[in-house]
Amino acid sequence: MSDPAASQSAHTPELLTCDILYTGMGGAQSPGGVVVSGGVIAATGHPNTLRGNFPHARESRAGSVIAPPPVNAHTHLDMSAYDFRALPYFRWIPEVAMGQRDKRGLAGALAGADTLRALGAGAVGDIVWSHGQDLLAPLLARTDLSGVLYYEVLSPFPERADEVFSAAREVIESHRKLERPGGPRLGLSPHTPFTVSHRLLRLLADYAAGEGLPLQIHVAEHPAEVELFRTGGGPIWDSMTRFPYPATFAEVIGRAPEADLTPVRYLDELGVLAARPTLVHMVNVTPDDIARTARAGCAVVTCPRSNTHLECGVFPWSTFAAAGVEIALGTDSVASGGSLDVRDDVAFARTLYPHLDPRLIVRAAVKGGHRVTGTPLPFIRRGALWQDAFVWA
Ligand SMILES: [Zn+2]
Repeated sequence: MSDPAASQSAHTPELLTCDILYTGMGGAQSPGGVVVSGGVIAATGHPNTLRGNFPHARESRAGSVIAPPPVNAHTHLDMSAYDFRALPYFRWIPEVAMGQRDKRGLAGALAGADTLRALGAGAVGDIVWSHGQDLLAPLLARTDLSGVLYYEVLSPFPERADEVFSAAREVIESHRKLERPGGPRLGLSPHTPFTVSHRLLRLLADYAAGEGLPLQIHVAEHPAEVELFRTGGGPIWDSMTRFPYPATFAEVIGRAPEADLTPVRYLDELGVLAARPTLVHMVNVTPDDIARTARAGCAVVTCPRSNTHLECGVFPWSTFAAAGVEIALGTDSVASGGSLDVRDDVAFARTLYPHLDPRLIVRAAVKGGHRVTGTPLPFIRRGALWQDAFVWA
């Protein structure tokens, strides 16, 4: 026999309130509320409107944010076994990225994927390192992980471009049959505009555009990258001499560095932006770079904690937003970001940009991330099932 009191309470609508509500449609609102009845969403909107329409609802504060789970649009899951360290960029690369290289690989990648699943991440944009071809099949099998696995390609020697490109295309073609409905799909990541030759960049961008493969490139992360395109020298150039690298930077980019050449202008004039890559970091940019990004229709991913930990500068969020550029958030690897939870970057961004409306940051983490990864955005709307994951911890 059913308990009449229990069945009565099961049908009493609940009004859940929050500071920021983003339903996936339109802009986010503040404050917000969701009425849930019998596990189904009955209404969303301003708490006062909902109180008026559902006077018998039991009201409780759900938390700061109600929104679909955010997307981690840029990370390196294969570095998930690394220890986090905040160090200036030119110490972090040798001491952490290179120093802990023996921790990079499949075990870390799968543990990172487990973490994202436990966090309920909406999707992921993951860079799979150039030595990690063997990671692609196990990660493609993870249908609990939606998003893009960008296979990273790196080679500064233009004379090797055809050979390196053929090998990368072979890796993509041999793995495409392993893509599963609902699971991650393949993409390509030319590492940076200074570690991939101009010729290889062109080949990768043309191939990706023709095959519909998503692209992600690290661009303008550190001020020294801008100096490199301006002068052909500086600390990046000095650090590159530890690796096999062409004799001059002009050979890498196929043109002479010049006073107003920036990494973004270079990519634009090379024809790479026409393939609409997602540009990651974009911290050290000019107004002209931002205008070019907007004109090309490229989305950008910002990694606020990582940029701060590595002392790279502050991503000019409001200028990009004013230009109409789609912005998403990523953690970067745990080694520079600190965790794989992009909600930590949302919280950090709210302190980093005290004058930016926090509703824009929440919307970017959800909608921007789904745009970048090409994954469907779940809506919080009447008739849909309520999920506890809609409340951001
Ligand atoms: Zn990265």
